[in-house]
Amino acid sequence: MSNGYDVIFIGAGPAGYVGAIRSAQLGMQVAVVDNFVFKDGKPALGGTCLNVGCIPSKALLDSSEQYHKVTEHLSAHGITARGVELNVEQMIARKDKVVKDLTGGIRQLFKANKIEWIHGHGKLVDNREVEVTNADGTTERYTAGSVVLAPGSRSIEIGSAPLDGDKIINSDQALDLTAVPPRLGVIGAGVIGLEMGSVWSRLGSEVVLLEAQDELLGPVDRQVVRTAQKSFKDQGLDIRLGCRVTGTEIGSGAEAAVTVNYEDKKGEQQLTVDKLIVAVGRRPNTDNLVSGDVDLLLDERGFINVDEHCRTNLPDVYAIGDVVRGPMLAHKGQEEGVMVAERIAGKAGHVNYETIPWVIYTDPEIAWVGRTEAQLKAAGVPFNIGTFPFAATGRARAMDHSTGMVKLLAHAESDRLLGAHIIGPQASELIAEAVVTMEFAGSAEDLARTMHAHPTLSEAVREAALAVGKRALHKAN
Ligand code: FAD
Ligand code: NAD
Repeated sequence: MSNGYDVIFIGAGPAGYVGAIRSAQLGMQVAVVDNFVFKDGKPALGGTCLNVGCIPSKALLDSSEQYHKVTEHLSAHGITARGVELNVEQMIARKDKVVKDLTGGIRQLFKANKIEWIHGHGKLVDNREVEVTNADGTTERYTAGSVVLAPGSRSIEIGSAPLDGDKIINSDQALDLTAVPPRLGVIGAGVIGLEMGSVWSRLGSEVVLLEAQDELLGPVDRQVVRTAQKSFKDQGLDIRLGCRVTGTEIGSGAEAAVTVNYEDKKGEQQLTVDKLIVAVGRRPNTDNLVSGDVDLLLDERGFINVDEHCRTNLPDVYAIGDVVRGPMLAHKGQEEGVMVAERIAGKAGHVNYETIPWVIYTDPEIAWVGRTEAQLKAAGVPFNIGTFPFAATGRARAMDHSTGMVKLLAHAESDRLLGAHIIGPQASELIAEAVVTMEFAGSAEDLARTMHAHPTLSEAVREAALAVGKRALHKAN
């Protein structure tokens, strides 16, 4: 048995690796146990986010956007492109290089911070003891002052569409298609469905998304969703709501199609596609994470039960990231990693769960923070609304990217910013301004009185803040 770590993290995704770095910065002896193996057969740090999540999906979203721009949008700028060719294998290879460079970067950060990376499957066998099963099946035990569980999540599978890894695939496999499927089906029009659907639609697939709910993106501002739905339709994304998939059949032979049987309010329907992505959510990785005699409390949905500081019911055992309550977002896990490291070091780390930004990287991008109109109404909070369309900003017009708007919600009496909802160009970047304002308990007036460079997209945020007080300058109030 090896002794002497101050803290052991199980899982080297954004929650675990960031928590490990912060722990090392605070002077602790740190080890990270992780079992991820990249498709080349080599162990890799970074978890889902870097290897099969945020980074590869954004790399492909960017590549597909470049292709789409060249094929669809350049002519408006007076540019004619001829002989444009698509090399999907090269696109995937570029994505893999982006991933490798970043996961290699974490390895360097581990070395620089003297963090020990133990490759293998970690299991909590006692409050302060972790058993690691190596690739060859041998086991070793390590002890630590504290253990942080950060094992992340994996795709949910459904009985009506069992994966075969070729025709019916999950998001991991959808990141590695080597040719554009002429017809692509996606079960689930959530974040992954919309992002992956966008990638392959831009590259030429006919994409149909089958969503169980009657409304698209339920928790998102309704005005934002209406704009998104129109844009997605214009792009050719066929989103069918209220669908219950009842079964799938895969034909025979390499070119075989997948038949998806589903029911909607009109009755039984059939869809035939060349590939089918199942993107119906993710579930926490808690299997084989603790030994039978360790009484780790899970909640009713199988997530590890934690308090606001990510403490589990076991002394000195914490859990962070996708495996605990709250949104499954990399930055939320990272903040929890920092908080837990600081708490273990006796400091006052905390996470403000009220200011977690969300981004969906479609075109237009969708981003929000804080509460929606519906939530404020339900809570009886009086509020004012300020909206501003990108079409009224010079920069968005110049970019030929003027769909969408910024919408701000501020308390009717205090004017404190309570929520921001953006759909449009660079929404992923613009939302940070609202997050900072909310973190500082700022008001719409604070934003409205802050000078913004001209011409920029961020002027739309300031104008929306002015609109809260009915004094937007570049639109009628
Ligand atoms: P993970 O990243 O899942 O890492 C957990 C690690 O622990 C993995 O390496 C796993 O193999 C390992 N592990 C599990 N069990 C054990 C064990 N017992 N022993 C040893 N190791 C173990 N989020 C965003 O914020 N922005 C995005 O743009 C975004 N895009 C996404 C796109 C896709 C296609 C997907 C699938 C997810 C995306 N996410 C995005 C979500 C994001 O990836 C997760 O929220 C994030 O990775 C969670 O971090 P984590 O550290 O909790 O877990
Ligand atoms: P999700 O929860 O966003 O969407 C799943 C969708 O599938 C939902 O709309 C749900 O109603 C639908 N659904 C569930 N069961 C179904 C069924 N049987 N038939 C048809 N539809 C069904 O989940 P996801 O898209 O799989 O993504 C998983 C998580 O990964 C998300 O919660 C998100 O936090 C994270 N993620 C984030 C980003 C980002 O931040 N940009 C990108 C990708 C993934």
